[in-house]
Amino acid sequence: MTTDADKLDSVVAAIAAEMTARSERGTVADYIPELARVDANSFGLVVVGADGHVAAAGDTDVPFSVQSVSKVFTLTLALGLVGDRLWQRVGREPSGSPFNSIVQLERERGIPRNPFINAGAIAVTDVILSGHKPREALGEIVRFMRFLADDSSIVIDDAVAASEQRTGFRNIALANYMKSFGVLENPVNYTLGVYFHHCAIAMTCRQLAMAGRFLAHDGKNPTTGLSVVSPERARRINAVMLTCGHYDGSGEFAYRVGLPGKSGVGGGIMAIAPGKASIAVWSPGLDTQGNPLVGQIALEILTKCMGWSIFAA
Ligand code: GLU
Repeated sequence: MTTDADKLDSVVAAIAAEMTARSERGTVADYIPELARVDANSFGLVVVGADGHVAAAGDTDVPFSVQSVSKVFTLTLALGLVGDRLWQRVGREPSGSPFNSIVQLERERGIPRNPFINAGAIAVTDVILSGHKPREALGEIVRFMRFLADDSSIVIDDAVAASEQRTGFRNIALANYMKSFGVLENPVNYTLGVYFHHCAIAMTCRQLAMAGRFLAHDGKNPTTGLSVVSPERARRINAVMLTCGHYDGSGEFAYRVGLPGKSGVGGGIMAIAPGKASIAVWSPGLDTQGNPLVGQIALEILTKCMGWSIFAA
């Protein structure tokens, strides 16, 4: 008899084989020079089910730069610190603009559209930083991710952080612009330092899928039963991931994949099948919106095979 776990294992293995063989793989991000060194042929997929079963195939244990996927965890931390007051500093509407756009900020007086575009994530980082030294805030973020993934080996890739710090002129502009509207409380270089470093956290697909479990299970770690956030908060973070997690490609991701998900320019996507699974996929080549090309295709096939779209009965 085939169990659900067997089916998941074979679906994940088949997807990895197909995705690894694909020739069209998108373009590796090179605006952060250190990211351009990554092998575009890499591919990993890990699915952690509600029963703790792990289905994994491909480059599942190779650390990669999580970049914007870290914004899900900083959003969770900031909501824990200031609750719904966070929404006075940042909106929760899809932006329909590129991830590093500045035009919208001018029209909306420095309040970023949502916590996942760069400006919004910088504002969220500023909330976490307030009352702390940058090193303490960063320590808090890394410890939180280690706790969620149940893995103390997660670290920051200092070369990636330094690379973005040297070349992140657009983010520096966004942060200064927000500061001019009084949206940031801390010195701009402190907030940016923490932001660049949390984006530079390196994780494997396995670690990332483990870290996302609480979002798939009403805010709880399904294995230990420990609560991370309330069910309501988990539901709301998933909602923002669905509507804003892929920048101006969020509508397309919802249409094709049908799950809350967050992408990063390091090629990772964390996706959540509520009640069913936490998923991490890694493919470094990006599409024109800056979202992982092959990873999105892999998730589309996975949700179709498993019937996991949140829009399906
Ligand atoms: N650190 C990157 C930046 O700020 C994150 C972008 C992304 O992953 O989408 O540009």
